[in-house]
Amino acid sequence: MIDDKTRLIGLIGEDTRKTSSPFIHNKALEIVAKNYAYLAFDVKDNLDKVINGLKYMNIKGLNITIPYKEEVIGYIDELDELSNMMKSVNTIKFDNGKIKGFNTDGLGFYMSLKDEDIDLKNKNILILGAGGAARGIAFALSFKENSNIDIVNRNYKKAQALVLDLRSNFKDKEFKFNAISNLNLKNSKYDIVINTTSLGMYPNENKTPILIDGFKSTCVFCDIVYKPHETLFLKEAKKKNHKIIYGINMLIYQALLAQEIWFDYKFEDINLVKEGILKDLKLN
Ligand code: NAP
Repeated sequence: MIDDKTRLIGLIGEDTRKTSSPFIHNKALEIVAKNYAYLAFDVKDNLDKVINGLKYMNIKGLNITIPYKEEVIGYIDELDELSNMMKSVNTIKFDNGKIKGFNTDGLGFYMSLKDEDIDLKNKNILILGAGGAARGIAFALSFKENSNIDIVNRNYKKAQALVLDLRSNFKDKEFKFNAISNLNLKNSKYDIVINTTSLGMYPNENKTPILIDGFKSTCVFCDIVYKPHETLFLKEAKKKNHKIIYGINMLIYQALLAQEIWFDYKFEDINLVKEGILKDLKLN
């Protein structure tokens, strides 16, 4: 219940009308009995006024979404190691007059794999897509594990730019890029395939980025699209008896990791909180 002790946390972006973040955060706050309320705000080109004003409102922190994840860096006093490498921030914390920046997007995805006990050490990973989400995931996986990552994209130049950036940050790791149309999946080496393109999401629900053919039976397929809950890509992988990971897990974990930053604590059982949210979250 909101009372005189309730404090605000929230999300700023350009169009947050359909976001599930308020539900996810407020449910987590209810589960762990924290007296905070999470609201979403569209800031319409007024990022400077909003951030500078919020500094004086005793707010714990904010999530930042499209299109402000890069621009917000100009207002931040301290970036953590990963967000500094990525040059993208999805979480800020107001801390004793300072603004600190973090990025939990890719770490949320990493948690969704750990949750399923998927081993990433020395594995071959294929990322489909080279947009903002692919960037978050590739950086977080490289930051956490020693895996080989290949990135393919419709526009191969974007895959190339991302791979060059990864190579300059992780000099001891291997990254390759290609155009998605050049991908040869015969006797594929991949252990994990991640769809980060928007194919599968409305209005492209009937599209899938690649055919599920030529993969090892142990290959795990992940989609980060979460509306619909089970994309055509995941349906096709499931039909071929592959293990699949749903995009909603990444969305919930990136939110819970942001709360750990704001409240400076660790959930006793983060998986249990995630399950509690999933139970009540309207999927599809
Ligand atoms: P983005 O930066 O706009 O990137 C979009 C990606 O999709 C690019 O690689 C783009 O390729 C590719 N793409 C778009 N239309 C395509 C098509 N018709 N054929 C082939 N490739 C196509 O977007 P983003 O922020 O990375 O988000 C991508 C998806 O991830 C969205 O559906 C978003 O909802 C989802 N997402 C989920 C989470 C989560 O927590 N689960 C978090 C973030 C994002 P080109 O470069 O060639 O255009």
